[in-house]
Amino acid sequence: MSAVAVRFAPSPTGRLHVGNARGALLNWLFARKAGGSFLLRLDDTDTGRSTEEFARGIEDDLRWLGLDWDRFAKQSDRFALYAEAAEKLRKSGRLYPAYETPEELELRRKIQLSQRRPPVYDRAALKLTDADRAKLEAEGRRPVWRFKLEHNRTAWDDLIHGHVEIDMASLSDPVLLRSDGYPLYTLSSVVDDGDLGITHVIRGEDHVTNTAAQIQLFEALGYAVPTFGHFSLLLDAEGGGLSKRLGSLSLADLRAQGIEPMALNSLLARLGSADPVEPKQSLQELVAGFDLTRFSRAPARLDPHELETLNARILHELPFATVRDRLPAGAGEDFWLAVRGNLATVGDAADWWTVVQGDITPVIEDEKVVQAAIETLPPEPWDATTWKGWSQAVAAKAGVKGRALFHPLRLALTGRDKGPEMAPLLPLIGRERALKRLRGV
Ligand code: GLU
Repeated sequence: MSAVAVRFAPSPTGRLHVGNARGALLNWLFARKAGGSFLLRLDDTDTGRSTEEFARGIEDDLRWLGLDWDRFAKQSDRFALYAEAAEKLRKSGRLYPAYETPEELELRRKIQLSQRRPPVYDRAALKLTDADRAKLEAEGRRPVWRFKLEHNRTAWDDLIHGHVEIDMASLSDPVLLRSDGYPLYTLSSVVDDGDLGITHVIRGEDHVTNTAAQIQLFEALGYAVPTFGHFSLLLDAEGGGLSKRLGSLSLADLRAQGIEPMALNSLLARLGSADPVEPKQSLQELVAGFDLTRFSRAPARLDPHELETLNARILHELPFATVRDRLPAGAGEDFWLAVRGNLATVGDAADWWTVVQGDITPVIEDEKVVQAAIETLPPEPWDATTWKGWSQAVAAKAGVKGRALFHPLRLALTGRDKGPEMAPLLPLIGRERALKRLRGV
């Protein structure tokens, strides 16, 4: 058996949304688990809608997720291969020209439906004589090129759907070339998967309906047929399709909202499978428990609240080295360790940096406690143990304890009524600033 090779094949006609990211991640995990290779293939044959900028955006989004690719291809470099494959099919009688206009096809469809027949292309073009074709060409008509399916039952064993069998007479012969000669997805995708030795095609279940025809095309072109796995679609928490909410769930937006890549990876790697979603700090940890056959056919629901919760849990364990570049200038590891447990996003750390190093408005809630605090404030150097001894001294002097002690101290020193533990925060604030704040300025 040849080494596992998978691919992620987005069209660079927009930025990646969460649904695409799931496809990329599942393929990547599958490759890494099997010790195989992961190909990034840009399906950019639609030259009208594909842009370089979107292509770069997709690469940036994948890098942000931490998904590296071993191989890269773009379909716009490979037109010659598609033309060659089309020629091969023409020679073997599997590709035929069809001259119907979209309006003619639509009319036939309506008639079929009104007669309660399936709206399948009737292959009228196969009955044309050379003379008929010459006449149509002389009228200026240019044909599309259809792949002649074999009307058998075509089957495959899907990694997620199990055994699937299709009566091919129920399908229209797919168009492989447009009338201007441009290859369509079915042709370019199969040629690339075949030519680049893809062993497993893992993609969304919106492609289940394309698979049987693609299998026949692999065979007609002499390629090995890959194994298929079609994962269910991702719905939002209310059950609506995610694609309708592209804007709010593009990776670029999630990133701007402060979602950590590992929060998204942790969720997407397990959502819709029988395995629990758990916060993981590295992709390697996700590879370990990954098993595509444990994914269900039922749609997976993405709950933004679950993502936020995971994000916080991941942040609370995130090492300083991972975030140092995203923290305010001057913020060190002691600061990060003091505040990370209280953050919803890394961006929130900036508020706490202001609390320890900047200007705040202290709140004096209890004069007596604050006065005792000023009188017992120890000299520097301060460390993480300073808070304990000092607050005990304040308690003894002011005759208060518990919330009556800690709440006024926190309000005076930070200006907030809750937040990170005071013990590590205090040395970061420092004596001079602490004294000023206790005096209410
Ligand atoms: N470019 C195709 C898409 O985004 C790829 C489908 C496939 O994985 O075969 O739908």
